[in-house]
Amino acid sequence: MAGAQVLQRTAALSSTGLSHHPARSKMATPHPNEHAMSAAPGLANDPQTAIRDATARIEAHLIAIRRDIHAHPELAFEEVRTAAIVAAELSRLGIDHQTGVARTGVVGLIRGGRPGPVLAIRADMDALPIHEQTGLGFASTIPGKMHACGHDIHTTTLLGVAAVLHDLAPRLAGTVKLIFQPAEEAIGGMSEMIAAGVLDGPKIDMALGFHNHPNTPAGRFDYTRGPGLAAADTFSVTVHGVSGHAAHPYAAVDPIVAAAHLITQLQTVVSREVNPLQPAVVTVGAIHGGEAANIIPDSVTFRGTVRTLHAEARDVAEAAIKRLCAGTLEGLRVRCEVEYRRGVPALVNDDRVLEPTIEAVRHQLGDVVQERGPSMGAEDFALMSQLVPSFQLGIGSGAPGRHDRLHNSAYQPDEACIALGVQALSRAAIEILS
Ligand SMILES: [Zn+2]
Ligand SMILES: [Zn+2]
Repeated sequence: MAGAQVLQRTAALSSTGLSHHPARSKMATPHPNEHAMSAAPGLANDPQTAIRDATARIEAHLIAIRRDIHAHPELAFEEVRTAAIVAAELSRLGIDHQTGVARTGVVGLIRGGRPGPVLAIRADMDALPIHEQTGLGFASTIPGKMHACGHDIHTTTLLGVAAVLHDLAPRLAGTVKLIFQPAEEAIGGMSEMIAAGVLDGPKIDMALGFHNHPNTPAGRFDYTRGPGLAAADTFSVTVHGVSGHAAHPYAAVDPIVAAAHLITQLQTVVSREVNPLQPAVVTVGAIHGGEAANIIPDSVTFRGTVRTLHAEARDVAEAAIKRLCAGTLEGLRVRCEVEYRRGVPALVNDDRVLEPTIEAVRHQLGDVVQERGPSMGAEDFALMSQLVPSFQLGIGSGAPGRHDRLHNSAYQPDEACIALGVQALSRAAIEILS
């Protein structure tokens, strides 16, 4: 974690916890690394009850934190206020942490009572450039910025996990690394966190991510085996022709007609070239060219995205797009300049993390987990999934009677998903590190 500006080593004297919660002030615990189950008096021996009770004690506090973060959204790499809230909570809990990791990231460490592997649990903190239209009392106070992807929920959920696991640390055989990441929406935060060394010191053996899913009701959870989210590449093509009078096309080389042909040809990449058992999307989302009805312009530029779940389909699509663009010189007399940029890879869920996690969620909350198909959306947790065995858990956040969507200006997740997510992820950590 080179580049970290502050190392806060808050002595783990006691789990002072969330001070305005009277129930927790009774819990003044000895050093959490003492191995007796009774290290946190008042916590039941069976993990289900211990986690449920510990979560219930902090739920109201977590919702207050979430509403505070929600009212003050910060875009990618601007998460200064949010990171300060995270750091203050970790300090209060007595959890070692570093701030300023990849600019605004925060990384905390909970050492278990016994040695064992290192499990990372990751949350993202950034908001979106959307003008909130919920009309809620704690709606965004910043015009044009909103937590419409629920990263306020994620940040708060991981703080809840931190509080619960800190209390239960004597039961952990291993270490939990809490990763609060900036800039997921800009798809840059995770690569900077990795460059800053988040995988090391101590070295991460496996990683658990999570995302709220409004199309799954709060109280339920979902998962996808193998590739769950797509690789997201982008391309920009400039078609160079020769400008001229619209009445004399034979004296010009029309890049608009060529671009129209080319865009239609690109639809054959998925239908004719990629293995149909490997999902792929090629979308052209922008096209610009020309100024007037009676002029053939010099050039047309269009941009698009390629989404794939498999490395083979990704290679095939990239090669096909470049080849079709190159072919226009011979066929249509235009020269294409292609800029193809690979973005995040597919997020591949590893059974070694997936299986114990969904088992743990069932142990904690019952028969509430369902499998679902992959999505062609993308997410930069995928970068971590390439380097260590990883799994991203879907946490249902749909509120009764609502039909919310992520990135929508009226998005209102059911806040019950915070405490449920805390229970699920805490139990997963306890069982994975057992
Ligand atoms: Zn998003
Ligand atoms: Zn998101």
